[in-house]
Amino acid sequence: MGKELSIDWKNLGFNYIKTDLRYISRWKDGKWDEGQLVEDNMISISEASTALHYGQECFEGLKAYRTKNGEIQLFRPDSNAKRMQDSCRRILMPEVPVEKFIDACIKVVKANERYVPPYGTGATLYLRPFVIGVGDNIGVKPAPEFIFSIFCIPVGPYFKGGLTPVNFNIAEYDRAAPYGTGAAKVGGNYAGSLYPHELATKKGFADCIYLDPATHTKIEEVGAANFFGITKGNKFVTPKSPSILPSITKYSLLHIAKEYLNMEVEERDVLIENLDEFKEAGACGTAAVITPIGGIEHKGNLHVFHSETEVGPVTKKLYDTLYGIQFGDIEAPKGWIVEIS
Ligand SMILES: *Cc1c(COP(=O)(O)O)cnc(C)c1O
Repeated sequence: MGKELSIDWKNLGFNYIKTDLRYISRWKDGKWDEGQLVEDNMISISEASTALHYGQECFEGLKAYRTKNGEIQLFRPDSNAKRMQDSCRRILMPEVPVEKFIDACIKVVKANERYVPPYGTGATLYLRPFVIGVGDNIGVKPAPEFIFSIFCIPVGPYFKGGLTPVNFNIAEYDRAAPYGTGAAKVGGNYAGSLYPHELATKKGFADCIYLDPATHTKIEEVGAANFFGITKGNKFVTPKSPSILPSITKYSLLHIAKEYLNMEVEERDVLIENLDEFKEAGACGTAAVITPIGGIEHKGNLHVFHSETEVGPVTKKLYDTLYGIQFGDIEAPKGWIVEIS
């Protein structure tokens, strides 16, 4: 620890590396233990763990940002904590208290401070909290024990050359059932998305768009990101459905559209047959903040929004504002930033 790292901050991708310390806490006999920072990045668990056989696991993703004056801050970690509690409840795992979650995030960032990229590189420290069901169990029932852990990796800005639009097609598969686990960030949702993702990329698309599982007429998710569109009347619109994963980035953009850009906002159905209502569209999530959508291929036609090569002005403004808030250059709404001293 303490020795200089030879990381090329400007050319970081999104790849796992072993950083110095990670947090791990165990739940047994009805309670979480104190938790601790450990060097070992291997977890030894029973071969009969429910996480392995029945997908009893959930995860989160959030980032620590280095500000201009060298300080480090987290963006809305309480929202990730609450969403992880929702995920845990849905698959019968014990909730991690919000305070414990945020405290663990802070501990992990502090313990790996030398991995927090410098301001100005666009790179960040990505935190990956997760809960898994472990212990000896073979029947389909909740695990007797659980592990809550957080590790971190430095990651690059998604777009090295600025905001570049990409194209998507429509998945032939569903990612979630109408009243299934789509709104929970649970592992099972993602195993099923690997194959549709591969099909899309083989055809030259960045990823696929999932329509609502019941009627296949409405946009739900863009790969593992939420969808938003800017209507020709300059309204920020994002789909509403119980099977969409509630993106913290999406709700942050919705707030920014309303409060910073004075736009009207709406959560409602977005019909795949009515893409013409939008002048711009994007996908949003923690990893990329915003991915501008160049076009969507549907029934053999590529519907292009603003442009296949240039980001639209409203999308750019939304991106710049959120990015500025996350890196501490623009004043954040109350409660969005947790400073790590
Ligand atoms: C994590 C995730 C998102 C993005 O959520 P953020 O909180 O913005 O990172 C969107 N869709 C799916 C399916 C996800 O898993």
